[in-house]
Amino acid sequence: MPGAMRLGIVGGGQLGRMLALSAANLGVDCSFVDPAPDAGAAIVARQIEAPYDAIDALIELAESTDVVTFEFENVPAPALDAIASHGQIAPPPQSLAASQDRLTEKQLFDSLGIAVAPYRNVESLAELELAVEQLGRPAILKTRRLGYDGKGQARIEEASDLLHAWEQVGELPSVLEAMVPFDRELSVIATRSASGEVVVYPLTENVHRAGILRTSTVPAAGETAHRAQAETWATTLLEELNHVGTLALELFVRGDELIANEFAPRVHNSGHWTIDAAPTSQFENHVRAVLDLPLGAVRPAQPCTMINLIGGMPDAAEVLAIPGAKLHDYAKQPRAGRKIGHITVVPVDGHEHETSVREAIELAERTTV
Ligand code: AMP
Repeated sequence: MPGAMRLGIVGGGQLGRMLALSAANLGVDCSFVDPAPDAGAAIVARQIEAPYDAIDALIELAESTDVVTFEFENVPAPALDAIASHGQIAPPPQSLAASQDRLTEKQLFDSLGIAVAPYRNVESLAELELAVEQLGRPAILKTRRLGYDGKGQARIEEASDLLHAWEQVGELPSVLEAMVPFDRELSVIATRSASGEVVVYPLTENVHRAGILRTSTVPAAGETAHRAQAETWATTLLEELNHVGTLALELFVRGDELIANEFAPRVHNSGHWTIDAAPTSQFENHVRAVLDLPLGAVRPAQPCTMINLIGGMPDAAEVLAIPGAKLHDYAKQPRAGRKIGHITVVPVDGHEHETSVREAIELAERTTV
C-alpha cells in the first residue's frame, strides 16, 4: 500500500481493535504490539507479538509507522523513551504520566481549577490513620498506581476497616479520598488533534457496580446543566497537557456540583456508544487526531445506551432480535469480571426505545459473571 498512512498501537485488546477498525476504514495501515497470541486487533492489523516492555518490538513499531498511540496508559517510562527516540508518539508522554499516578493527577486537577474530592497522600498505616481523622468516614483508599475497574481500592466505613484497607491495597503508596455521596456519574469524552482542533462529545451518564462500568447512556440527565463546565474542564486538560488524541474525564454529580474523579488519556469504555450513535466515533477521531487529519463532527448524537458484557456472552441471535440493538463481540475468552463485549441500543421506528434498552440489560445480566 504505497503512500498509506501508518499507525502503530501499543496494545491490541478491544480498544486497540476498535481503533484499528476505524483506521482500516480510513485506509490507514495499522500495526500493534501485544503479547497475547489471540489479540483482538489481529483481525484488521499486523501484530508484533511481544511483551509491552520488549524494547526491540517497540522500536520496530515506531520505525515502521508514522505515529505510535496507546490503548492503555500504564506504559512503562523506558518503553515510552524507546518509542519516542525512534518515532512519533501521540498522546504525549506527559498525558500518560499525569494519569498514571492518582496523586499527581489530583494535584494537576487542583492546579487547573478542576474540582476534586478532598484527598490525602498516604504512605504508611500511621498516615492513613491521620488521613481518616482529617477526612472522616466513609472514605476510599486507592493505590496511586495501577488501579483499574475497582482494583487496588478499599472502602473505609468503620474505624475497624482501617487495617484491612491498608493490607488490601498492598501497603502501597496510596491516596485516601473522601467518599462523594454522588447523585450520578458522568463522563466527558473529547478529542484534540495535532493541529489543536478540539471536539467535545455530549455528556455520558454511567452506572458502575463493584467498580466496573455496567451501562453508559446518552443523553445524560444533566447534559444541559453540566455541559458547559464539563467542556471547559476537558478542554483545559487537553490544552494543558498538549494532549493529542481522545481523552475521557470521569465526573461525579452532587446537587449542582461537578467533581472530577479521574481521567484516561485514551479512548474510553464510556465512549463506546459513539460507534453507533455519534456522527464520528471516539476511535475514528482519535485516529484522525494522531494523524493530524481534520476531526469529525460529534453532534448530534442519537439517544443510546451501551451495556457492557462482563464474564459471559449472550446468544447473538437473541441480542440482535432486540429492535435497535447492535452487538460488539471482542472475541475474548470469558472470565469472571472481564469485559468481553458490549451491546448498544439506539431508537428505531415502531419500537419503544426504553423497552429495547431494558431487554438488552436483562439479557446482559443473565450472562454476567
Ligand atoms: P475509579 O477506579 O477511581 O474510577 O473508581 C471506580 C468507581 O468507584 C467510580 O466510578 C465510583 O463509582 C466509585 N468511586 C470511586 N471513588 C469514589 C469516591 N471518592 N466517592 C464515591 N464513589 C467513588
